Amino acid sequence: MIKQLICPECKTSMQLVNKKDSLVFRGVRVSYQSQISMCPSCGLESATIEQTADIQRKIFREWRKKNANRH
Ligand SMILES: [Zn+2]
Repeated sequence: MIKQLICPECKTSMQLVNKKDSLVFRGVRVSYQSQISMCPSCGLESATIEQTADIQRKIFREWRKKNANRH
């Protein structure tokens, strides 16, 4: 169940957005898609503990996939 977040800056209801991102994890660049909350008014981004955990799982999965391709 996803809670409706309120922007701490301007008190607008935040919307769920899908965002593409990439980072270097253990020396390998991995790209991933994350679902975070974003304020449509001021652009503030926020991720819940669940969303953060989901992003970390995706990064690790991508990293493992890329690492497997090296052999
Ligand atoms: Zn805002």
